[in-house]
Order: sequence, then structure tokens, then C-alpha cells
Amino acid sequence: MKKVIDLKIYNTLTRKVEEFIPHEEGVVRMYTCGPTVYNYAHIGNLRTYIFEDVLEKGLRYLGYDVRRVMNITDVGHMTSDSDTGDDKMLKSAEKEGKTVYEIAKFYTDAFFKDIEKLNIRKPDIVENASHHIDTYIKMISKMLEDGYAYQSHGNVYFDISKAKDYYQLSGKNPDDLMVGVRETVEEDSFKRNPADFGLWFTDSKFSNQDMKWDSPWGIGYPGWHIECSGISAKYLGEYLDIHCGAVDNIFPHHTNEIAQSEAYFGHKWCNYWVHGEFLNDKTGKMSKSKGEFLRLQLLEDKGYSPLSYRYLCLSSHYRKGLVFSYEALDQAETSYRKLKNRIKGLDRTPNLREGKIDYYKGQFKEAIENDLNTSSMLTLVYDVLKDNELTDFTKLYLIEDFDKVLSLDLTVDDETEIEDEQYILDKIEERKQAKSEHDFEKADAIRDELLNQGIRLIDTREGTTYEKI
Ligand code: AMP
Ligand code: ZN
Repeated sequence: MKKVIDLKIYNTLTRKVEEFIPHEEGVVRMYTCGPTVYNYAHIGNLRTYIFEDVLEKGLRYLGYDVRRVMNITDVGHMTSDSDTGDDKMLKSAEKEGKTVYEIAKFYTDAFFKDIEKLNIRKPDIVENASHHIDTYIKMISKMLEDGYAYQSHGNVYFDISKAKDYYQLSGKNPDDLMVGVRETVEEDSFKRNPADFGLWFTDSKFSNQDMKWDSPWGIGYPGWHIECSGISAKYLGEYLDIHCGAVDNIFPHHTNEIAQSEAYFGHKWCNYWVHGEFLNDKTGKMSKSKGEFLRLQLLEDKGYSPLSYRYLCLSSHYRKGLVFSYEALDQAETSYRKLKNRIKGLDRTPNLREGKIDYYKGQFKEAIENDLNTSSMLTLVYDVLKDNELTDFTKLYLIEDFDKVLSLDLTVDDETEIEDEQYILDKIEERKQAKSEHDFEKADAIRDELLNQGIRLIDTREGTTYEKI
């Protein structure tokens, strides 16, 4: 008999496509590294968030109760992932003449706007790294007590020689790495081993460090890696099922997360490490510091719909590098528009025929179970449209069902969306008018009416905006 859920997923830890078995039946504890909020997300970063979103929704589609947590890195991330270079947040604050807190708030808001436009579901828990200092202090204290960490010149470092199989996730060769480390100009001489990493810094080379806290080791700030271990431990406990990120996170970030979490808990921590490949441009990995800064807004300014970009990402497998070009995006935009138009032309008169529904849903499940095969999921939408044995209404029913995972608004009529938006803006204006006339009862009634329709108003100094809940 076929198992109810038969998910197979590629696990970086074992370098194999493996059967997925969570710690608790029917529940998935999932952690995904969030953005470093010193700048806008580029569309490469967004590719990773799209893949993680589809994975989360795919798991839900299969029937799992997914508990997903994400951090917002607002402290501790240096320009080099191995603790060297400048502090990303501080550098950005200096450039923009703002405080680090202002920078973090601004780019966090921008990130949420981007993910909303891409129909990425906001994870259940999203936490700022700077809000959990007590958790990191608790973990670091225990690691010091148990001999996994040491103090040197006021800083606290993790001693990688104490970690069990430190290089398992990356499959790297320590000797090759040592060459790399020796070649870096800026080596931290306080470390016992060049590959040790910082858990807490007090001896900061940044005299104007904005974000700092008291700790048993002096005033300072946490290392980047401990943030994710800490936030994950706090919200998901000592056993994690899936940890995601893009491939650049494998080393050193995720490697260090494993070392410190397993040192802290005293046992294996996370069973499945799922990494997405890069979005590249013609010259290689897309990054924030390179060439034209490709952010979602730029694509919109050029007339593309954000969901065309989502469509483009879904057309390729998350484990394959995707080369971005405007030609590829043009093609995706055309296919996406055509697809939506075809769906728009379907007759919406209720006429559901059960016949092949289970078959198609089964196929869709299989596409998810087959290492998250998003292009097969898209192909199924076309298969449904082509199937003459299905009534239009049944086609719509199935496509709407698949769209719980694809989130391409396939059955949403854009004109209706625009009308909806105008309706909300009119209501906001009406409420503003009521407030100016001191008719607060009416203003509150409008707010509540919208809330009942799933629209939450947000009052800011610049005016009222809204979010769909
Ligand atoms: P950051 O904001 O730099 O911490 O990165 C946020 C996420 O984007 C991380 O999971 C990175 O691994 C991922 N990422 C960075 N560059 C790319 C890229 N070119 N393509 C896909 N994902 C990326
Ligand atoms: Zn992380």
C-alpha cells in the first residue's frame, strides 16, 4: 500500500534524495534564514524565498502541520561570512546617514512588501536577531561551561576542533580551507584555530557600534551564526526537521549553526538541510554589490508583474542554477499572461465532475513529493486545461487547488483586483474624512468592516496603508 505521504527531498547533509521523516508525525518544524536588512533584497535572494515558500506550502498541501520560523538579521553580519570585513548594517547606516535601527526597520518593511508582491506567505514567526540577546547569552554560557567555546581578548569563540564532524555538511576539505583562510588578509589572531568562529564580540574594531548589549563577557554583540541557532531553539525546540537557505549558506553559516546547536543540545539537531541554487546573471552569482541592482521594484518599473518572476522561478528546479535575463523574463511574462487569459476564459457555471479530481490531485502530490518538482506542478496546470473530459468548472476547481502551492493568482481576475484596491482606497479616504469630522464611531466602523473582509488598516505618520490578512 502506498504511504499517505511519501515525500522525497534532497538532503545536503547526506548528499542524497531521501525519504522525509519528521521527528513528530504530521508536524514539520522548519527554519529558514532571513534577510540581512542593510539593503533591499535582490531578486536572487527572492528566488530563495520563493523556493522556501513553495516548500512550505507543498508540505501543507501534503497534510503536514508546518511550523516555520525566520530571522531578520539586523546585527552581527560582516561583509565576509567568516566574521571578517565591515559590519554590513553599520556600513549601510553610515552611507545613508541613519541609525542602524532605522536602516533595519526600513529594509525589513521593504522586504515584507517584496514578499507580499510575490505571494510569499510570511512565516508564522519572524524574529529580529537583536531581540533575542538573552537566548544567545544562555547558549554561549553553556558552551563555555561545556568546553566548546573559549574566551580570547574579550571575545568568545567556538572551538571547531570540539565539534563532531564539523565539515560533514559542506563536504569541504579542512586542508584546502586552511589555505583559503591563510590567504585572507584579515585574520583574527585571537582565535585558537583560524576556522573558529565568533559567538560574542566585545573587542569590536567598530568603535561606533550602535547595537551593543551587556553580557557576562562585557558589552558587545553576538556573532551572526548564533542568531539562527538561538531563534530556532527558542521557537522550535531542540529538534528541527528542515533547515533551508541558498547554497552559499552551507559554509560557514549552516556549518556553524550545526556545530553550536549540537554542542548546546548535546545531540543531533536537524535532519534535513535543503538548499536552493543561485540565481545567476551572465557573469555569475547575483549579488547586492554587483552591476545593476536587480530588485523587484526595478522589474516592476520596467513593466513586469512580480508574479511573472515567480513563474520564472517555478519553471526551473530549485536545485538548478537559474540564469536571469530579460529575454527569459519576457518569455515567462508572456507564458504567464497567456495562461491567466486561458483560465479567465473558462466558464464559471458550477458543474463539478468528480471523475478525475483525485487523479490530478494525486499527480500534483507526486510532483511535490518528487523533490519539489515545480515545473511538473506547472505542467499539470496545462494538462488540466487540455483535458477534454473535465468541465470548465472542474478545471477551475483543480487549478485553484494547485494554486495553494503555486500562488500565482491563476484564477484571480486582475481587473477585479484593481477594483478591490480602489474600493479599499475609497474606504480609507472615507475614514480619513470621518476622522477629520471627529466622527470616530464611523471611522472605527469602516476599520472593522474592512477587517472583517480580511483587510487590516495600518496608520502611519505618512498616512494609512493596508495589508491583506
Ligand atoms: P542575505 O540577505 O544576504 O543574508 O541573503 C538572504 C538569502 O538569499 C540567503 O538565504 C542567501 O543564501 C540567499 N542568496 C544570496 N544570493 C543569492 C542568489 N544570487 N541567488 C539565490 N539566493 C541567494
Ligand atoms: Zn541563518
